[in-house]
Amino acid sequence: MNMNELSAKKSLGQHFLRDESAIRRIVDMMGIEADDHVLEIGPGPGALTRYLRESVCSRLTLLEKDDRFAALHSSCPRPGLQVIHGDALTYPWEKLAAPCRIVGNLPYNIASPLMWDIVSRTRGYVRAVFMIQKEVADRILAEPGSKTYGALSVWIQSYAVPRKGFIVRPGAFSPPPKVDSAVITLTPLPRTDFPRDAAALATLLKICFQQRRKQLQRILRSHFSEENILASLEESGIAPARRPETLTPEEFQKLALRLFYA
Ligand code: SAM
Repeated sequence: MNMNELSAKKSLGQHFLRDESAIRRIVDMMGIEADDHVLEIGPGPGALTRYLRESVCSRLTLLEKDDRFAALHSSCPRPGLQVIHGDALTYPWEKLAAPCRIVGNLPYNIASPLMWDIVSRTRGYVRAVFMIQKEVADRILAEPGSKTYGALSVWIQSYAVPRKGFIVRPGAFSPPPKVDSAVITLTPLPRTDFPRDAAALATLLKICFQQRRKQLQRILRSHFSEENILASLEESGIAPARRPETLTPEEFQKLALRLFYA
């Protein structure tokens, strides 16, 4: 199959990375070691995959939705290679064999829900390196009180430590996207620090960030009793007049547990 004949599908968020120095930096950031299992989301024509194939990893799993690219990679065997022709959004992340490093120049239209699932459901990954839209990276890295701090920041930071990598301009891709991209790493927190009730936290974040500028006590009124709200806020050490965008991930976790288990 001639790769030049493979046109990019917009519906699958295909922007192929062409910048060799960016590709090498991403692979370096993964810190691959000999016994590692590496999983790449959306290998496409293989810009990153080429380096992963040559790396010391003992297992390499490629998860690709586009049948053209799944077929392309299946036709080039390598020891420990598994090609999965499937959708990363329905992949059973909890079953991924550990220790694993995850990498992907993610399709921008699904990056946020995908990372949401990966951090909360994957057991035993040691690091994830993702290329995403810069604006989404800013949200993931945002601190309480900043304009870009929201549900995605709280969720990801409740499960992992995000770190800034580097910015990649549209010209590094073919076809070029309309916006800047950024590479970030996610290192999981110890499992003992994960939120004790993920569903409660997710529900609270949804409620709170629909009205991020309002005071917490007012927002929560349409969902919980006044008595529960006041006691939960007090026991969590949160003043009722605070706005959601000022709460730390730990405060959200504490509040979610108290509100839902009152
Ligand atoms: N890794 C290649 C690169 O860096 O040049 C391609 C990156 S391109 C931005 C995104 C890739 O993800 C495409 O190969 C696309 O077909 C694949 N993809 C899109 N949606 C997907 C999904 N739901 N599950 C798995 N792969 C998907």
